[in-house]
Amino acid sequence: MKIGVLAVQGAVSEHVEMVDRALRGLGRSGSPAVVRTVDQIEGIDSLIIPGGESTTISRLIDKQGLRESIVKRGQEGMPIMGTCAGCVLMAKAGDEDVERTDTELLSLMDMKVVRNAFGRQRESFEAELDTVLFEDPFPGVFIRAPAIAEVWEDCRVLARLDELVVMAGQANLLAVAFHPELSGDPRVHEHFLDL
Ligand code: GLN
Repeated sequence: MKIGVLAVQGAVSEHVEMVDRALRGLGRSGSPAVVRTVDQIEGIDSLIIPGGESTTISRLIDKQGLRESIVKRGQEGMPIMGTCAGCVLMAKAGDEDVERTDTELLSLMDMKVVRNAFGRQRESFEAELDTVLFEDPFPGVFIRAPAIAEVWEDCRVLARLDELVVMAGQANLLAVAFHPELSGDPRVHEHFLDL
């Protein structure tokens, strides 16, 4: 199994390390693969879209001509996890900030995102999250994090922080508003490998 990590911008190496750790923890064979071309996308079994800056990542996806193959593979059932800026890109709808910056979303998941949901006072913080996936709370690392304002159809809320949805799942797709690759806890990546 080859787990791709999209490497056009953002927190790539941390995801590569966490995928390695999750594979070892689960006793699975497979390896992470850094991807930035259409050929590389064709050769993977799942894909992680990391955090960074959603407008920039979206533009680089187009610059590299990757949009069509990412969307097609996601629609065909390949597991894709978007974290932070990647979470924004997974959505079908965005807030005014997404509109104003002309950020083209991948439109894979039935949800609406707010691109910078936590404001200036809370630019970066950690919070223990209750999730429907794990028994014990997950240490969420939030960095200028988005949130999920609305989900519909088959999209399911997996975690909330206060009133805001910060993790959602839909069949083979996972949207995570925080940075699970920075938390030192492999459970979100293990869940993703299970998809
Ligand atoms: N809010 C940022 C954006 O959408 C994402 C921040 C991050 O990935 N750390 O561009």
